[in-house]
Amino acid sequence: MVQAEAVDLSAVQENVVAAIEAERDDLIALSRFIHAHPEIAMQETASSAACAAFLERRGFAVERNVAGLPTAFRASVAGSGERPTIAYLAEYDALPGLGHGCGHNLIAIAGIGAGIGLRAALNSVPGTVTVFGTPAEEAIGGKAIMSDAGIFDGIDAAMGAHPGTVEAVCPTVEGSGQALACQAVRIEFVGRPAHAAADPYNGINGLNALIETFNGINALRQHICSDARIHGIITHGGEAPNVVPSFAAGDFLIRAQTMAYMNELVEKVRRVAEGAAAMTGSEVRYLLPERATFDMITNHTLARRIKTHLDALGLAMPEAVPEEGSGSTDWGNVSYVVPSVETGFPILDRVCTWHSPEVVEAADSAMGYENTITVAKALALAGLDLLTDAALLRRVKGEFAETRAARGG
Ligand SMILES: [Zn+2]
Repeated sequence: MVQAEAVDLSAVQENVVAAIEAERDDLIALSRFIHAHPEIAMQETASSAACAAFLERRGFAVERNVAGLPTAFRASVAGSGERPTIAYLAEYDALPGLGHGCGHNLIAIAGIGAGIGLRAALNSVPGTVTVFGTPAEEAIGGKAIMSDAGIFDGIDAAMGAHPGTVEAVCPTVEGSGQALACQAVRIEFVGRPAHAAADPYNGINGLNALIETFNGINALRQHICSDARIHGIITHGGEAPNVVPSFAAGDFLIRAQTMAYMNELVEKVRRVAEGAAAMTGSEVRYLLPERATFDMITNHTLARRIKTHLDALGLAMPEAVPEEGSGSTDWGNVSYVVPSVETGFPILDRVCTWHSPEVVEAADSAMGYENTITVAKALALAGLDLLTDAALLRRVKGEFAETRAARGG
């Protein structure tokens, strides 16, 4: 086995950067193809196939249909020693009716480019590089399903990048890079129909139970942490005003800063619904139709290393500040299994609304591609650091274990 200490690190770094530079045009062409053929969650057949084939042609061993997801893949190259294993995550799903309004075509080549770059180091240093194709970020959360299936077990660190506006940051400080844990809940009440005027006393009103559930949740709000969120809609409220609604249903999302607290709230809302059922005499069905999205445990030690390389490569970004999570991402599920960083990077020189036509345009712009290639290089160089600097990898893993334990994971 090659001793990492014996190699000339700066020469290896040069090889890594040169490998990505050599693929610049092809990476951009791949991204353009994905952008020009937007495919929504779980329908990313052409995008996923193009990404997997791109890596396969460059010597990666590709496994498709990972975790039972037809558009997920795993592409690996092992060096002289199998560990550590560094993973890069590539997304490629688009938004319904909009196209690549979240720039996932750039996320794809950031991960693939980084994987190709780090692969160039494997002649000199031991380790494995794996690129995962992770579908359906905008819908069911491919990473959550892959994570549950154990696909990320044994990975030492996972990295990726998400485009943003001029305000995008690399989450280097504690409290930055957060995302909320999120659980979808469906609540159904089954009552008994009756004529709403002639014999309402024979009816059991499912809609009343659902309304009391909303009231109960409103009362609960006073007693939950201010950063938690519970929001819902009525999807079924009855058939006709002269019939006592025998069936009512609502969809809710319950979000919190940690998965542990989110789970507590899911149980509290369950008791509210059970109380509403008891009040009205209806029967309640409390359903969790999708797996939960976990909060994001960003590894700041690793993020700082990525930022060092971004700075050296000349991609300037504002400094990260502690900021409460507001959205949710399936990266969170990965971050409970593997030390993880999803860095932001700018593809616009201004602020704009996300998931918009402006972003569709920026995701296929010279600035977008230029910065994505730079980010791929920084992610590859940070991966190289993890392969060659055992103390850094220990610190990354130490922070991971500590933070996960503190969040009750
Ligand atoms: Zn996105």
